[in-house]
Amino acid sequence: MNTSKTKDKYQIAVVPGDGIGKEVMEATIFVLDSLDIDFDYVYAEAGDECLEKTGNALPGETLDIIRNADACLFGAAGETAADVIVKIRQEMKMFANLRPVKTYPNTDSLFENIDFMIVRENTEGMYIADEESYTDDGAVARRIITREAEERIIDYAFNYALENNKTKVTAVHKANVLKKTDGLFKEIFYDVAERYPDIATEDFYVDATAMYLITQPQSFEVIVTTNLFGDILSDEGAGLVGGLGLIPSANIGEDGALFEPVHGSAPDIAGQGKANPIAMMLSAIMMLRYIGENEAADRFDAAILKVLNDANILTADLGGNASTMEVAQAVKNNL
Ligand code: ATP
Repeated sequence: MNTSKTKDKYQIAVVPGDGIGKEVMEATIFVLDSLDIDFDYVYAEAGDECLEKTGNALPGETLDIIRNADACLFGAAGETAADVIVKIRQEMKMFANLRPVKTYPNTDSLFENIDFMIVRENTEGMYIADEESYTDDGAVARRIITREAEERIIDYAFNYALENNKTKVTAVHKANVLKKTDGLFKEIFYDVAERYPDIATEDFYVDATAMYLITQPQSFEVIVTTNLFGDILSDEGAGLVGGLGLIPSANIGEDGALFEPVHGSAPDIAGQGKANPIAMMLSAIMMLRYIGENEAADRFDAAILKVLNDANILTADLGGNASTMEVAQAVKNNL
């Protein structure tokens, strides 16, 4: 991610989508507007409602708006989520999926002081969905590992560590069994590491990592791994630090980036003003860091921390009874 402010004005594609996506987006824009940064928001449609209205869950116009923007904020899509997000990732060549795992106060976190980033390769591995047709006795899937894509994600992880004052990157693989594919991943990891002599390295098997995330989660700073392992460990990370209402994510590509909460459209609470906007806000903070607005990101993050510490104005998922916009107002008051 960039470390210095790069522009005076930023064009942000805003895709609220379905259900609580709209509510958490409104709350987040409300706070972003108080940061004294010149944002030009370009709203675009995607998701179930868009499909119903236009016959297309992801119109070309929306893709163009995302493509032309400095960054995209995405709320949530309902049933069409997989299609919409997978297509945007492919079209925008978003090769890195970032999932921070961090403890916040007054939440259901299992441990204190967890703060690490999972950097997951997003374009290959098991998830190219290249499952050959059924065979006589079962089915076969292919796992693709290329030097180019793995070097790109590993370099991204080291660079992320460098720019965010992290001291160590952990590679996660299964090279003892997947000797060729993950053997290559591990080899590339240590080759790339030579370019970053100040960053410490270690590598673990994925099964051991699944255990270490429970027994010593505070020891991790940046984890880099392939597509399927990253997907699984990210959800384990989410479980470690409590509810869905607090987990942001980023998809980074060469030509653009998209920031979205991990939760979906939550039809069970949509339209009731009950949704926790913090996951969307933390996604916007990742966006601020991506465009180089680190000072604003720090202020926004500190304001959220204050609201969680005070524990007076929280949504129902965190044990309170405040509305989405009341939380937004409280965050704004603490900026
Ligand atoms: P979708 O089909 O869009 O994925 P879903 O309901 O299957 O929707 P989520 O939207 O991720 O999946 O929600 C899972 C559960 O977590 C729901 O009970 C929902 O109300 C709750 N939830 C998700 N996000 C939030 C949030 N921001 N604030 C409060 N509760 C949330």
